[in-house]
This record gives sequence, C-alpha cells and structure tokens, in this order.
Amino acid sequence: MSMPSHQTKKPLLSAGERSARRGSANLSRGTESGAGTTQVVTSSSRMRLAVQAAKTSGKTIGFVPTMGALHRGHLSLVEASLSQCDQTVVSIFVNPTQFGPDEDVGRYPRTLDRDLRLLEELCCPWVFAPSASEMYGAQFDTSIDVGPVAEPFEGAMRPTHFQGVATVVLKLFQIVPANHAYFGQKDYQQSLVVKQLARDLSVPIDIHVQKIVREEDGLACSSRNAFLSPAERVRARSLWQSLQLAEQMVAAGEKSADKIIGQMREQLARCENVEVEYIAFLEEGTVCEVTTVDRRTVVVIAARFGQTRLIDNHIIG
Ligand code: AMP
Repeated sequence: MSMPSHQTKKPLLSAGERSARRGSANLSRGTESGAGTTQVVTSSSRMRLAVQAAKTSGKTIGFVPTMGALHRGHLSLVEASLSQCDQTVVSIFVNPTQFGPDEDVGRYPRTLDRDLRLLEELCCPWVFAPSASEMYGAQFDTSIDVGPVAEPFEGAMRPTHFQGVATVVLKLFQIVPANHAYFGQKDYQQSLVVKQLARDLSVPIDIHVQKIVREEDGLACSSRNAFLSPAERVRARSLWQSLQLAEQMVAAGEKSADKIIGQMREQLARCENVEVEYIAFLEEGTVCEVTTVDRRTVVVIAARFGQTRLIDNHIIG
C-alpha cells in the first residue's frame, strides 16, 4: 500500500537553505516592483524578456501556474521547481475564462499580499501577476479545445472549463517560455489536458506532475476549502475516507470497480449533505474507465458540500 502523501510532505526550507537560495536568486533582475528577493512582474512582455534573458545566460527556468490563495499544495510545486531549476516563475492569475456562467469568479479567494510573503519566504525569484486586461485584450477571441481528454468528468460537469484552462495555460507558456512546468496531481484531468496541449502544439516545456498534498486529516489542500463551513469541513474528510476505502478493498482482493464504487457511495451516503457528482476508476494517464481493477488505476471523485464543490483522486495499485 502506498503511503498517503500527507505523511510524506517535506518541511519548508531551513534558514541556511533559504540564505543559500537568496544568493542564487539574484539573477537577471530589473523588471518591476518587488520587495526583497521576489520580483513581481505584471507586464507580459517584460516577463517574457526576463525569462529569455535568463535562458540566454544558461539558466534553466521552472514555471508554476496558479490562481493564488496559496497553500502547501502550491508551495510543494514551487519547491520542486526551486530544487530542480535555476530560476522559478510563479504566476498568480484568477483566470475568468475557466469559470462557468454559474460559477462566481468574483468570489474566488484573492490573497496576493500573503501569497507574495510565502513566495518570498521560499526565495522564489519571480512572480507574474497580470491583470485580466493584460491577459485578455478587448479583441481576444481564441480558444483552445484539446479534444476527448477534456470531455468527461470535470469537462462534463463544467462544460467550458478546460477550454479556459488550455487557453490560459498556452498563453502563460508563451509569456513564460520555461524549460519545466509544474502541475498538481490534485487536478488529475487538468494535468492530462496540459500534457495533451503541450504534445499536440509542440510546446517545448517538460510537464511535471507533483503528488497531492493533504491536510492532517487527509483532505486535499485546496483554495476552495476556505469556503467550507466548520461542519462542512468535518464532512469533507469523507472524500479521503472513501478513497482509502477503495484502496483497502483493492488490497483485500476486490477487483470490481462497480462493487467498490457502490461501497464508496454507501459510505458517503452515511454522511449528511454530501452530494456525489462522480466516482470512477481510470486507467492511469487517461480518462478511460476501467471495470476491473487489476493494474494501476486512478480513482477520481467529485462531490458538493453545500455550495462548495471539491475534487480529489488517489492512485491505487
Ligand atoms: P490552482 O491555483 O487551484 O489553479 O492550482 C495551481 C496548481 O496547484 C495546479 O497545478 C494544481 O493541481 C496544484 N495543486 C492544487 N492543490 C494541490 C494539492 N493539494 N497538492 C498538490 N498540488 C496542488
């Protein structure tokens, strides 16, 4: 049985490591405002020039796209990039085009000052924080459709979501032409969409997918957890509990996806006010459902806790 990822989380940097990183972070500066070691850039052209200059001087660049309201899950991606690349760019942009008409983009948590402090603490050299008008001019019309990988599950529940994601990710890749980009397994289908996009459109950036960081009780860290009431926060543990139940049933020899999903649904039904949207076993690296769990599979789940929709997944086998 694989170890739950919340038990394997790395500590943040020691003071010595931070100070060593500060030394190596002072490269190719001179863009916009910024306190201490973290430069905040709001202009696309300046960001691109800074990344190109760093690459020309032989530096490898890592890129972590986010919508901000940073938590330990985001920071694990930043740490991976910082440890593997010479320079790291984190983007903070709440992308309006990936929100559906019924989803309130204005309600999404925005905590830029706190985010910058956390990134400063990690000695992240660059933050790209554009405005919506910087990203989407008045004449913006292009939309990227990556095809079947974006259709089921999240694509079915949120019909325009992945077009918005693919379009903004490709645009960010143009602005930050990094060598490596870091995404989270937490958004499993999104990671497949991004890989498909990079492969199909010959984007010369290596895509890395980092494991899920969880809270102490197993709930996957998410900016949306802040929307849960205290009672919903307690109930939200049931997501991880149901994924663990799946893992235990497979470890005990159960191979029928239907039977396991039935048990997961029964367990979740015992929890008040939880509305399951989908549960499925997928062949790893795809959105193809498996009926027999006899190899590595990814169990994906989405459920609503009151107004808050949460997704999670777990690799089994
Ligand atoms: P977001 O800000 O929600 O768009 O997420 C930015 C990136 O962080 C995406 O690649 C997410 O998959 C990743 N991420 C979000 N939550 C977690 C988590 N709990 N563990 C690891 N990565 C995460």
